[in-house]
Amino acid sequence: MVLFFPYRFTPSKKGCLFIRPKGCNGFYMKTIRKVSHLKEELNRHRKDGKTIGFVPTMGALHPGHMSLLGTAKAENDLLVCSIFVNPIQFNEEGDLDAYPRPLEQDQRLLLEQGCHILFLPGEGEMYPDKPRERYDFGRLDKVMEGEYRPGHFNGVAIVVHRLLKMVAPHRAYFGEKDFQQLQVINKLVEMTGLGTRIVAVPTSREADGLARSSRNARLTPEQRKAAPLIYKVLKEAKDRYLGFTNPKQLEKWATEVISSNVHLRPQYVRVVDINSLEKIEQWTDNERCILCVAVFAGDVRLIDNMRLFNK
Ligand code: AMP
Repeated sequence: MVLFFPYRFTPSKKGCLFIRPKGCNGFYMKTIRKVSHLKEELNRHRKDGKTIGFVPTMGALHPGHMSLLGTAKAENDLLVCSIFVNPIQFNEEGDLDAYPRPLEQDQRLLLEQGCHILFLPGEGEMYPDKPRERYDFGRLDKVMEGEYRPGHFNGVAIVVHRLLKMVAPHRAYFGEKDFQQLQVINKLVEMTGLGTRIVAVPTSREADGLARSSRNARLTPEQRKAAPLIYKVLKEAKDRYLGFTNPKQLEKWATEVISSNVHLRPQYVRVVDINSLEKIEQWTDNERCILCVAVFAGDVRLIDNMRLFNK
């Protein structure tokens, strides 16, 4: 393993890896790869009465992830993060292969954030056998992302369900940037009776409004310059949505404005009910609506959303 300065790695007898920043006495982050070790470690903390906050990720950590970790850290005694690039939620192999995996940088960021345990399972640990679970989320996972990424949410649900059973946290943190995913996970927890509270964390944005994402690094300078238009349109939609005759008119306008930039290609633009994610036909149908978009910039697919009402 390549060591990065100025952190010291101390392998333990049990296969955990402790990371300690130089000059930072007394604080370690444990990297644990085995489920059995993870459970043993967490049980000790549970017996001491500690609350556990959990942030599942696929790594390539950015300030959006840090916002989840910071919230979890503030609300719990013990902060656990997992990094696992989940192959069964990818629709295209090329996308899975291209997914960035800067592990040492992630470990440094987690340590700086005060993470206590990094759970870093291999594929054999997560999926000793071919995963075959099938979840019935009704229409929740069929609309929007579900239309264009069939099977994606079943793959997400399998990994999140397994991780929540392994970690059994008091609270688990998910970003509102992936709003449909958040609702699917809320449903998963409700359906399975897992005792974890799901906490939604607001979308973290760049200074120009672009929602932070591991995928942003793949944008060309021109695409990066164009991408903040998505947020601009979402924000304008929020400010004046009642000025449109109906949600369809707003969707049409938003699609046209985004498409007017040569670098952006909207895949869908939808005004939906915040709970059911079903399309809203009239403003009077429901006050609790959210505008969700998926937009291609080249081959990079960006998603974002905006509530059209104040919470
Ligand atoms: P990922 O590593 O992409 O699977 O994301 C892990 C978690 O971070 C998910 O709950 C995401 O919704 C959340 N997340 C990713 N980007 C952001 C962001 N810009 N703001 C808030 N949460 C985010």
